Amino acid sequence: MIDIKMVGVLGAGTMGNGIAHVFARSGFGVLLCEVEQQFLNRGIETIRKNLDRELSKGKISAEDKELALGRITGTLDRGALAECDFAVEAATERFEVKAQLFAELDELLPAHAILASNTSSISITRLAAQTRRPEQVIGMHFFNPVPVMKLVEVIRGLQTSQTTYDTVKALSERLGKTPVEVNDAAGFVSNRVLMPLLNEAMYAVMEGVATAQAVDEVFKLGMAHPMGPLTLADFIGLDVCLDIMRVLQDGLGDPKYRPCPLLIRMVDAGWLGRKSGRGFYEYDG
Ligand code: NAD
Repeated sequence: MIDIKMVGVLGAGTMGNGIAHVFARSGFGVLLCEVEQQFLNRGIETIRKNLDRELSKGKISAEDKELALGRITGTLDRGALAECDFAVEAATERFEVKAQLFAELDELLPAHAILASNTSSISITRLAAQTRRPEQVIGMHFFNPVPVMKLVEVIRGLQTSQTTYDTVKALSERLGKTPVEVNDAAGFVSNRVLMPLLNEAMYAVMEGVATAQAVDEVFKLGMAHPMGPLTLADFIGLDVCLDIMRVLQDGLGDPKYRPCPLLIRMVDAGWLGRKSGRGFYEYDG
C-alpha cells in the first residue's frame, strides 16, 4: 500500500469542500483545486463555517479547527498537484469534464499516485481508460454532508488493482468512514436504487397523485425515512438528480430510467432545489 501524505481535491463545491474538510481533520495535507477563485473562496468559507459548527458543539477544539484549516491550500493551478500521492475528483457530474480532468491528472501526478473519483454514477472503468494507470483508478463515493455521513462506496473499475482497493479501504477507515465494496455499474448501488425512487416520487407529483408534501409525509411516517424523497431531491440538487438519471438511462438502457418530465422542466427553469432557493419547496436565503 502506498503512503499518502498529500491529497489533491478537485472541485470545492458541495462535496469537494466536505471531502477536503475530512481529509484535513484526519491530518492529511490538502490541495483544494478549483476553476474559479469565487468557487474556491466559497468552498473554503464553507469549511470554516462547518468547523465552527463542530467547535460550538464541542466536537473539536479551537486548536483542531486551526490545524485543519492550516492543512488546506486552495489553488487554481493544477500544476501544484505534482506533490500529491492521491487525488479525489469532485468536479461537475459530466463525463467530458471528468474525462479531461483524469487525462490531466494522469500527466500531473507522480507515477505512484492513486486517482479517485467521487462520481455518483459515471463508470470508473471509462474514467480509468483516460489514463495510463487504470489499475490505480478507483471510485471513492462520499455522501452529503461529507463530515457527517459515515458511508464511502468504494468502487472497483474493471482494472482496479487489489493494492489500490486495499489502500482506499484503509484510507476511508482513517477518515473515520465505513467503506462498502461495490463493482462498477451505472449508479453503483446507492444511486441505482435511490434515484429511481426520487424520480418516481416526481412522477407522482406531476401526475397529481399527491402533493410533494404528501409524498414526503408517506415516506417519513410510513417508511421511517428521515426525510421524504422530494426534500431529499431538493437537498441533492435537481440538476444533479437529472444528470444521474441520464447516466442510468444511457448506462443501463432500460426505459424505466427515463427522467421525469417535471424534473427536466424544473431544471430548465433554474429551480435546482435548496441551492437555488426553489425546487419542490421554497427556501429563504
Ligand atoms: P457542485 O456543482 O456543488 O461542485 C462542483 C465543483 O466542481 C464546482 O464548484 C465547479 O467549479 C468545480 N469544477 C468543475 N470543473 C472542475 C475542474 N476541471 N477542476 C476543478 N474543479 C472543477 O457539485 P457537487 O454536488 O459537489 O458534486 C461533485 C461530484 O460529487 C459529482 O461527481 C457528483 O455526482 C458527486 N456527488 C454529489 C453528491 C451530492 O449530494 N451533491 C453526493 C455524492 C457524490
